[in-house]
Amino acid sequence: MPKSVDKILVIDEGTTSTRAMLFSADGVRLGQAQAPISQHYPAPGLVEHDAAEIWALTLKCAREMVERAGGAAAIACIGITNQRETVVFWDRRTGEPLAPAIVWQDRRTAGRCAELKERGEEPGVQARTGLLLDPYFSASKIGWALEHWPQLREAGDNLAVGTVESYLVFRLTGGAHVSDATNASRTALMAIGASGWDDGLLDLFGVPRTILPEIVDCAGPIGMTDPGLFGAAIPITGMAGDQQAATIGQACLEPGQTKATFGTGAFVLTNTGRRLPQSRNRLLSTICWQLSGERHYALEGSVFVAGSLIQWLRDELGLMATAPESEALARSVADNGGVYLVPALTGLGAPWWKPTARAAITGLSFSTGRAHIVRAALEAMAHQTSDLKSAFAADGADWQTLRIDGGMVGNDWMAQDLADMLAIPVERPAFVETTAVGAAMLAGVGSGLFDSLKAAAALRGAVTLFEPDIDAAVRQTRLAGWSHAVRSVVESA
Ligand code: ADP
Repeated sequence: MPKSVDKILVIDEGTTSTRAMLFSADGVRLGQAQAPISQHYPAPGLVEHDAAEIWALTLKCAREMVERAGGAAAIACIGITNQRETVVFWDRRTGEPLAPAIVWQDRRTAGRCAELKERGEEPGVQARTGLLLDPYFSASKIGWALEHWPQLREAGDNLAVGTVESYLVFRLTGGAHVSDATNASRTALMAIGASGWDDGLLDLFGVPRTILPEIVDCAGPIGMTDPGLFGAAIPITGMAGDQQAATIGQACLEPGQTKATFGTGAFVLTNTGRRLPQSRNRLLSTICWQLSGERHYALEGSVFVAGSLIQWLRDELGLMATAPESEALARSVADNGGVYLVPALTGLGAPWWKPTARAAITGLSFSTGRAHIVRAALEAMAHQTSDLKSAFAADGADWQTLRIDGGMVGNDWMAQDLADMLAIPVERPAFVETTAVGAAMLAGVGSGLFDSLKAAAALRGAVTLFEPDIDAAVRQTRLAGWSHAVRSVVESA
């Protein structure tokens, strides 16, 4: 292709916003358009999105970037990355949604999952999918929708179901019904070590095979956009769920390399290469990427509360006016004053998986000030990550370095505290939108701009290194204080 056709358009459809970004093939970000997504909370524990809104806003942002590029002809390829596990239900004739999208955070199927657990189904599900029986994953959400929303049954053969990237590809191409292997691996309907949807799992969750997409590679000729959308057809050549895309964008391409994203929640993935990991410590096994039918795997630890804790301290408790202020507050005191905060505001995720746990602040005295509580909140990020580090190590994935990204890691104090408490170097790229970088790398490989993910990894750019610099005794005191606090929360759950 001519040299001028070297721009990569990335669609990054997150939980709270949808974005389009334009990259040059040497990693320069040429522009970005962003729009917030409406969050619908019809009842406690229920979280829904309007897929028609997601599509309209995605198209609007993408069109802005196509214009910035000087037209569709200047764009070599499109990469898509997305909020995982969220499910969309639509009419294949029109592409219009037939029901609300059920978001990954939605807990409506907690009862159903508990019932399946009681029946002893979890070990089988874990062995086949690498996941646990939790409402977080798509399968129970799809089963619930088919049972409770009559319009889905009435749609008959016209019903199509898929995760968000699948819906976007359907709309962009005008009818291709596909999902990439990383997103498919989060549904709990695919056996992680085999190809295609699994009959036993489809049966268990009450999902007919015919409504689901075809599972495809993360890079290659995924589809061509409808020429009517951007003025000319653009090839879609890369696709992965957001956490997998961030792992690729952090260039964690070799076994053992690990990234942690600190956004609303925190998600840690260690690349395990061609080896399918089997966790004995309640971590998840997931597909990191699939290229030419060959799968690379990752071990994942998901922590539900990270940046949302800072938001809560800011908005509900009024302890600060802005999230970045947490850094100055943490620095304003010599230590945590004996205060520990266990942020189980929506239960505890990995490695505890205690949906009924509730948060606690321990060690309060009259000398406790707001700075101590804010510092304890930031320290909780390193403490939670340290628990994950132990679980990963026990599963045979010992971290040498941690690559961090996400909205929270602009906080230098927190980045240093992570290095101190984990006792390993922590690396932060200058450009922290690693999810978009990963999608650009996949699309670049899929379109032939790069020969391999390794060749595309230069897109990651420069990094800042944080080295451990703390007294071992101080670290031990902190870890012991946290361990005591988190155990009391787990035991009272
Ligand atoms: P998401 O992609 O999950 O929507 P982001 O990666 O944009 O989230 O991260 C935003 C989160 O980071 C917010 O919850 C906010 O409270 C937190 N945050 C942003 N800046 C800081 C900071 N300097 N210190 C601590 N937390 C921060």
